[in-house]
Amino acid sequence: MKKRIAYLFIIIGLLCAGCSRLGAQQGTVVPESSTVQDELSKVQQEGEKGKVEPLLEGYLSGLDVLEVPVREYGENTGHILLGEDLVVHILYPTGDIPALNHAIQEWVTDTVAYYQAEAEGSGGNEDAAELTVEYNSYLTGKDLVSVKLTGVFDQPYLAHPIDVAATFSADRKTGKVLKLTDLLLPGGEETLRDMVVDQAGIDPEAVDDGVLDLWILNKEGLEITLKRGDYLPMSDGSVTLFYPYEELKDFLTLSEDPVQDSPQIDPVQGEDPAGEDQKEPEPATPDMDKPMLALTFDDGPSKHTARLLDVFAKYGGKGTFFVVGNLIEGREETLQRMTAEGHEIGGHSWNHRQLTKLGKGELTDQIMNTRAKIYDATGVDTTIMRPPYGSYNDQVKTVSASLDVALINWSVDTLDWKHKDADAVYEAVMKEAKDGAIILCHDLYESTAAAMERAIPDLMAQGYQLVTVSELLEANGKTMEPGKVYTKK
Ligand code: ZN
Repeated sequence: MKKRIAYLFIIIGLLCAGCSRLGAQQGTVVPESSTVQDELSKVQQEGEKGKVEPLLEGYLSGLDVLEVPVREYGENTGHILLGEDLVVHILYPTGDIPALNHAIQEWVTDTVAYYQAEAEGSGGNEDAAELTVEYNSYLTGKDLVSVKLTGVFDQPYLAHPIDVAATFSADRKTGKVLKLTDLLLPGGEETLRDMVVDQAGIDPEAVDDGVLDLWILNKEGLEITLKRGDYLPMSDGSVTLFYPYEELKDFLTLSEDPVQDSPQIDPVQGEDPAGEDQKEPEPATPDMDKPMLALTFDDGPSKHTARLLDVFAKYGGKGTFFVVGNLIEGREETLQRMTAEGHEIGGHSWNHRQLTKLGKGELTDQIMNTRAKIYDATGVDTTIMRPPYGSYNDQVKTVSASLDVALINWSVDTLDWKHKDADAVYEAVMKEAKDGAIILCHDLYESTAAAMERAIPDLMAQGYQLVTVSELLEANGKTMEPGKVYTKK
């Protein structure tokens, strides 16, 4: 039986490609954070101001360890919560299979409710519990779609974060959500279970039906994941087993040859066309006699970002975009447009982890990988960052300072993540707008883009200059200092 299994991947730490970056910290390609820090302090000791280039160079030339998720199906959809007890950032796909959308959304709702109860009483900025989940999605062939959601739940008093995982698959032709047994010939379930038990070394006494629960199909084969602590000792981490189709042909039934080339399905990552008749970027210096504020947009780039850029292009003004590192690939043009049209770009971590829960090495990687990716796309080396959920502590400040990065939070939260309603977001912006404000929005939502189509011209009609965060602070005599947190002018 063992001979039939050609591949076995064991990923220690976390589950998936999208999350294994954290596990990969233990691997060999990862720059030791001490080395990174040493290199940096060496540069800084030499007194060459602003010279973090060697560090950035390192990340640009292959030290990059944080993986880019596979997203072959669905549009990024966000579920965000900034609560006292719990902060949530879940990215999940919405695609053209309603039953699959429904199943995933139901899981998101249930999972948030479950961890909300778990987090009860955590409370307060960096002490809030964190639920961060993202996804990989796969097209196998003509008709099959698989989605794997993975992430962590972390709480100050937990020794280790809890792995969170779910998988969904569906047949696009029938529109049905699939169980693995739908794809197995009689006897196949037992055969596959034996293979998994044997390969992973699970105690046969401990095996139950759940052992095959986490499965996805991709173009190469079937992946089974055993979540950390399930069936195997916690110290083994999450284990992923992979079986190429060739090894499964006697008991896996597929309506189409999964290895065939996938047809072109509706665009997943298509960029919206740039707006017409765009204005030249405005002069960089704001007029000190007029009020000014900074509109900031987190969690992109997304397919809605271009629409926002169109609004700025039409009415003038500038925004600041705090981008998530692993969302940049495939949307480099959106970032290039931002810089070309005078907007400011800052980092928002690589995969939206709450930075207060990470060690120095991970923290450095979160910041520097994102920065390298932004530099790669635009040639701009950004030195501002918005920490996910606005959460920071002394370590976040110290590491940011060592990386020459200033932290930008906000004075106004539009709650666009909560309302997802253009009218409510518009009202919030107009009501809270005042001179010197830094306003938090998210370019992940269509409702936010729609709200800005009204808010931006109306703010300008009220005399506000819409400036970038750097312009706002500079115009008000503030020099941005690395490691410091800014929330308004
Ligand atoms: Zn965010």
